Amino acid sequence: MNESPTGADAAVDPETAAAAQAAALVAARFRELHGADPEGVWSAPGRVNLIGEHTDYNAGLCLPIAIPQRTLVAARRRTDRRLTLASLQEPRGYDLGLDDVAAGAPQGWGAYAAGVPWALARRRHDVGGLDLVVDGRVPLGAGLSSSAALECAVAVACSDLFTLGLVEHDTGRAELASACRDAENVVAQAPTGGMDQSAALRCTPAHALLLDCRDGSTQQVPFDLPAHGLVLLVMDTRARHALVDGQYAARRQSCERAAHDLGVRSLREVPADSLDRALPRLDDDVTRRRARHVVTEIQRVRDTVTALRADDFAAVGVLFDESHASMRDDFEISCAELDLAVETARRHGALGSRMTGGGFGGSAIAVVPADRLAVVTEAVTEAFAHADFRAPQCFPVQAAGPARRDG
Ligand code: ADP
Ligand code: MG
Repeated sequence: MNESPTGADAAVDPETAAAAQAAALVAARFRELHGADPEGVWSAPGRVNLIGEHTDYNAGLCLPIAIPQRTLVAARRRTDRRLTLASLQEPRGYDLGLDDVAAGAPQGWGAYAAGVPWALARRRHDVGGLDLVVDGRVPLGAGLSSSAALECAVAVACSDLFTLGLVEHDTGRAELASACRDAENVVAQAPTGGMDQSAALRCTPAHALLLDCRDGSTQQVPFDLPAHGLVLLVMDTRARHALVDGQYAARRQSCERAAHDLGVRSLREVPADSLDRALPRLDDDVTRRRARHVVTEIQRVRDTVTALRADDFAAVGVLFDESHASMRDDFEISCAELDLAVETARRHGALGSRMTGGGFGGSAIAVVPADRLAVVTEAVTEAFAHADFRAPQCFPVQAAGPARRDG
């Protein structure tokens, strides 16, 4: 037998060790604040969407992966139906009654956490008061879904602490994802689709999650770039342009108008090969371009899944590029920083690159040969400095696992 020199410890992989360390840190913070141990620590990942942007609220398809960056929550039950909330990332703390949570209340970050027990209770799950201490390792507002990571970490904590039995099977996880979406839509009043919460709860390591937003069904699609000498590079532009909420609402409205004028329930019902006949029936150019993005993007998700299943990463790269052009020109949700990241990555050897997430800032992704990673990262950093943009944060990610108990 091959005994390792350091014995059993050598068998602990670095990711497990890092997760244990992060859990110990947030537990220590909980002890400082509450003078007692938490009952446990739970975590949920951020996500990047490989392709399929602004398709979720059109009953379409999207293809997220969970990323290794996670949000942790140390939690303990209370007997008095109160919620106390603290975050290592935000100075504001909360102490409120579970029954004070409502549409639009509380305001601020606490809505994302307090909204989860509220949404579970509304679905007739028996949840009570909690002390929660949050440590978010997903960058906030970077388009990597720190909001869903927070909600979903709280959700798995609730399921375990109040023995709801929802984390152990996919149907339960889908239910948790819906509750987290309610928390975000109703309590935090952010009108997002359900992709982020499904990704945080239902993704699996080395796979992308093909999510059909029409019926909530999913398929696991192999996504193991390192096995093919490639990496997925995330480029957080650190640009956060104003008016995002208004623009998001405007895009949703355009899509609804297009579906209405075409006489379909959603743009999902418009097949890509009928687009040439459908578009002339819309009477303004902007609505036509918005609809074209959604319909072609849904088809690109299907084509990406086919390419991934055939290990055809060159084809995946082309689809990424086409998706970016569609978001830039037809859906008009890109910005100068995102375009520069994408173009620079491509010019220095990426197979393909696109913005990811809601747009107007946030992050872009690129499929990069492993031996070009340093070159691409450096080129993007330099291009940003040259353009006088804030320094971007570039880091490779692998498809990671879903929300879970960590300690
Ligand atoms: P994204 O989900 O892309 O990161 P959002 O605007 O949807 O961006 O969500 C970011 C918001 O989520 C933050 O402004 C904050 O209100 C809340 N949030 C996320 N992570 C944390 C955290 N660790 N602590 C406190 N609030 C958080
Ligand atoms: Mg979010």
